[in-house]
Amino acid sequence: NATIEVSGLRKRFGPTVALDGMSFTVQPGRVTGFVGPNGAGKSTTMRVVLGLDTADAGTALVGGRPYRQLRTPLRQVGALLDANAVQPSRSARNHLLWLAHSQGIGRARVDTVLGQVGLAAVARRRAGGFSLGMRQRLGIAAALLGDPPILLLDEPVNGLDPEGVIWIRGLLRSLAAEGRAVLVSSHLMSELQDTADQLVVVGRGRVIADANVTELLAAA
Ligand code: ADP
Ligand code: ADP
Repeated sequence: NATIEVSGLRKRFGPTVALDGMSFTVQPGRVTGFVGPNGAGKSTTMRVVLGLDTADAGTALVGGRPYRQLRTPLRQVGALLDANAVQPSRSARNHLLWLAHSQGIGRARVDTVLGQVGLAAVARRRAGGFSLGMRQRLGIAAALLGDPPILLLDEPVNGLDPEGVIWIRGLLRSLAAEGRAVLVSSHLMSELQDTADQLVVVGRGRVIADANVTELLAAA
């Protein structure tokens, strides 16, 4: 059951309404673009799905269960939330080895994903010295480590150079072609319209439009 099901999420931060009835489903075998202006609630939704934050109301299921009930979360859900979440003093490779070890994932996966994201040559350098684009790649490597059927990537294009932007498009397409459910956010529709199969457009904590990209562009 490689789906993400978000239903009626509500969340306030003090007076700020971050989520106001956020609902959508992410299907396997597709790239679902999660698009909306900054502050629309994309990161908060992803954090709630990943159990890093709690909603005031509503439910979020990954693979049919709340994230916290997953026994081997990295094998079921991969996520890129914040490219700065790497430990700066560790090498890229040691960061991934530590993550793999903590989740019972074999060491061989580390070199596989380093190659997949184009960091093999710099894998022994301190992640603290990485550019934003390299940290994004490392975050994506961490998300891929457990070979999960579900991926959530928050603004993965940020900080990538043009070559990196093309690379990530191809990566997202191939992950979906392998049958994975891929949710990818951006504040720019233009970043996702050529890559996504489905677009979930959000504003002020709720879904404004949820449509198949081909149909959406045909109607425009
Ligand atoms: P997006 O990812 O679409 O840019 P966010 O989910 O980050 O949107 O933010 C939604 C709203 O919630 C914004 O108004 C933001 O300022 C607010 N918000 C998010 N996280 C916090 C927090 N930890 N404390 C206070 N307000 C927050
Ligand atoms: P802590 O709560 O001690 O910070 P976590 O286990 O939540 O530890 O996260 C440790 C590291 O694993 C962080 O760098 C985080 O970004 C990363 N991480 C956690 N969950 C995932 C996931 N599903 N996919 C990829 N990386 C993850």
